[in-house]
Amino acid sequence: MTYRNFSLNQLQEMDAAHHLHPFTDHEDLRAAGSRIISRANGPFVYDTEGREILDGMAGLWCVNVGYGRDELAEVAHEQMKELPYYNSFFRCSTPTPVLLSQRLAEIAPANINQVFYGSSGSEANDTALRLVRHYWALEGKPEKNRIISRNWAYHGSTVAATSLGGMGAMHGQLYGAVPNIDHVMPPYAFELREAGESDHDFGLRAAKAVEDAILEAGPENVAAFIGEPVMGAGGVKIPPESYWPEIDRICKKYDVLLMLDEVITGYGRTGAWFAAERLGLQPDTITTAKALTSGYQPLSALLVGDRIAETLVKKGGEFFHGYTYSGHPVACAVALKNLEIIEREGLVERVRTDTGPYLAETLQARLGGHGIVGEVRSFGLMAAIEIVADKETRKRFPGEGAAASCVRDHAIDGGMMMRAVGDTMILSPPLIWTRETIDMACDRIETALNRAEAELRKGG
Ligand code: PMP
Repeated sequence: MTYRNFSLNQLQEMDAAHHLHPFTDHEDLRAAGSRIISRANGPFVYDTEGREILDGMAGLWCVNVGYGRDELAEVAHEQMKELPYYNSFFRCSTPTPVLLSQRLAEIAPANINQVFYGSSGSEANDTALRLVRHYWALEGKPEKNRIISRNWAYHGSTVAATSLGGMGAMHGQLYGAVPNIDHVMPPYAFELREAGESDHDFGLRAAKAVEDAILEAGPENVAAFIGEPVMGAGGVKIPPESYWPEIDRICKKYDVLLMLDEVITGYGRTGAWFAAERLGLQPDTITTAKALTSGYQPLSALLVGDRIAETLVKKGGEFFHGYTYSGHPVACAVALKNLEIIEREGLVERVRTDTGPYLAETLQARLGGHGIVGEVRSFGLMAAIEIVADKETRKRFPGEGAAASCVRDHAIDGGMMMRAVGDTMILSPPLIWTRETIDMACDRIETALNRAEAELRKGG
């Protein structure tokens, strides 16, 4: 059976009747109908009507090598024929996760040499939470189990990952979070910096919120701090340069483990294999997923630092945790080939030395002065555009999120896929974008901003 036998309307009707979508208001979806993307190539996706849309989000922050990579399809095909599945429980292994683990240990920070696999970032964060608490228990400190996280953090959608995250709306639907997780202010200067406060000082103040939380709980009770190097789904919130060195200092001072969630920032997006490298950090865990396979297969890898791994190996006995698809042979084969492509094409370096700086300059030059833009910011190939009603006072348009949604709708209509988070527009394109693609994106975003401004000002 192929979808081509069905009209768009039929597909939309079946979708509405039977498919519960993630992060979706289902009544809305039924009223508006879903947008059905049916193929993609390079930096573009196409809907069932053949409309071409430049994908400013790399799918969902994941398709780093772009679409239409035959090599990835071929390696999956070969692996499926040879060995589609076998588990890695009970002292079994298969070749591709072995080779992938070796490769990940090479590109990870020097203190990281072990990998635990899952199928999603959420699962990897569940694993990380369990592992970190288990580590302290094995060290004879079971009470050292509190985790410090941040408001607006996104760590996934399972119960544990939602509990780790700091999204108020998600917590509202948890009906019982995993206990002993505290949330502090994020390093979001655009809204939280005080008048007259420098970026540097704001970064130190945001880090101090972590220290205060550690002291309030008692350092003997705090297992770890978890953070995304740059908050992604929370709105590409880029911390001031003073933030991470201070967090590192605080974690070391109180012997609190550092857990980085690099589900978005991993595998080249920031111009380094991992943002940890760019920030000079040696975390105890790094959660990765998404671009590990460029989204061609579901796979996550929790990178585990030597400190935890050694205790687990020497004192741990059996770790009662694992997923059927941990180390899935096909997903790992695709990941290996994907990492090979990223390396062969020099995509990490391209982001660091060429497209990352060019995106920053071009967004600033082309969109920074726009009448409804309060700030543009970027880090490697992730960027945010703050939508405001008044550039000077940074006052927002009425109806939280409505203005950015308006920009987003105009952008998609004009062939530019991007996302709105609250009143922030965000971009996270494939790493194959060139200067020309960045110019094309800026043209389309500018048009969307103009159209949205006309609509929003008329409405107001
Ligand atoms: N952590 C971060 C930082 C993420 O951005 C995401 C997904 N957007 C996750 C974890 C969860 O990953 P998944 O959706 O694969 O479970």
